[in-house]
Amino acid sequence: MKAYCYLGKDKFGFVEKTEPHIADPRDAVVRVTLSSICTSDLHIMHGLVPRARTGVTVGHEFVGVVEETGADVKSVKAGDRVAVNVETYCGECFFCRRGWVNNCTSPLGGWALGCRIDGAQAAYVRVPFADNGLTKIPDGVSDERALLVGDVLATGYWAADIADIGADDTALVVGGGPVGLCAAMCAALRAKRVVVCEADAGRREFAKRHYPQFTAISPEHAEEFCRGECAHGGADAVIEAAGTDASFALGWKCARPNATVVVAAMYDAPQVLPLPDMYGKNLVFKTGGVDGCKCAEELALIAEGKIDPAPLITHTFAFSDIEKAYELFASRADGVMKVALRSE
Ligand SMILES: [Zn+2]
Ligand SMILES: [Zn+2]
Repeated sequence: MKAYCYLGKDKFGFVEKTEPHIADPRDAVVRVTLSSICTSDLHIMHGLVPRARTGVTVGHEFVGVVEETGADVKSVKAGDRVAVNVETYCGECFFCRRGWVNNCTSPLGGWALGCRIDGAQAAYVRVPFADNGLTKIPDGVSDERALLVGDVLATGYWAADIADIGADDTALVVGGGPVGLCAAMCAALRAKRVVVCEADAGRREFAKRHYPQFTAISPEHAEEFCRGECAHGGADAVIEAAGTDASFALGWKCARPNATVVVAAMYDAPQVLPLPDMYGKNLVFKTGGVDGCKCAEELALIAEGKIDPAPLITHTFAFSDIEKAYELFASRADGVMKVALRSE
C-alpha cells in the first residue's frame, strides 16, 4: 500500500509499505476512509517533533472501518465504522486510571500514531489498545462529522472540560482556528456566552457565518470588550488556543480575578508569566496536551446535534493528491480551516 511518510526534515513522501497486521491481541487494523492533516503533522515535517521516527507513516486524525481485531478486543468488530483517538493508551497505568491518558506510561501510550508508530495517511493502520482507541460511530453520523472527534475536537472538549465553566459564565476562547472553534462549541455546552477572539478577519467572518451563536471579536478590542461586557470585569474562563506570544498575554489579561485560564495552544518559544503584574489576580492556569478519551461523549453530542464540527472541513482531496492538500493547509490560503483526504 502507498503510505505518506516522514523521510527527514522538510521531507514527506510516498513509500510503498506492506499492509499492517495484528501484532498484539489488543490491536485492531482499521481501513482508513477519511483522514485529515493536523498542525502537528506540519511540526513533524519541519523537524520540530524530536520523538517522530524517520520513515514513520504520518497522520493521526481519521475515521475508518475495522478490518480485523486481535483476540482480546471486545468493544469493536470487523465492519464497524469507528472514530480513532489520537492517543493510544493502556487504560491500566497510574495516569490512565485517572483519565490522564496523554501521559500513559506504556511504550505505545500517548501520541504514538503517525509519530512513533505508523499512522493514518495510508490505506490501513494498526491501532494498539483498540478497546480504548476506537469508538463506534453512531448510525446517522457521517464520516465528515466524525472526522475531527479524535484530535481537534477532543482538544476543544478537553479544554472546555477543565476550564471550570459555570452556567452564568462568559467563556473567552482566544483563537478562531479549528481548535479554538471546537473549544468554543464545547464551552457553549456549559457557558451562558462564548466569545471568540481571532486576529484574522477572514476567520472572524467564518466564525460568524458558521457559528453565529458566538461573539467574534478582534484582539485589539478584546481587553476593553471583556472589561465592559463581562459581569465581573473579565472573562470567567479563558481558553488560549492561538499559540502566539500576544495571544498568551491576552488570555490572562482578559480573565477576571480568580478565573481559570486553560492553555491548550502549542508555542514555538517559551512564554513569560509576569507575576508582579498579575499579583492579586489569583488566576488558575491549566496547561498541557489533550487527554483524549471522550470520543463516545463527543460522538453522542454530534448525533444529538449539540455540536457540529463538519463546517470546519473546508476542503476535500483524494488521498493521491495529499501533497496538494498539505500545501494548501500549510499556506492557509483560500480560507482553509481543515482538509479532508478521501481514500480511493
Ligand atoms: Zn493533531
Ligand atoms: Zn496507561
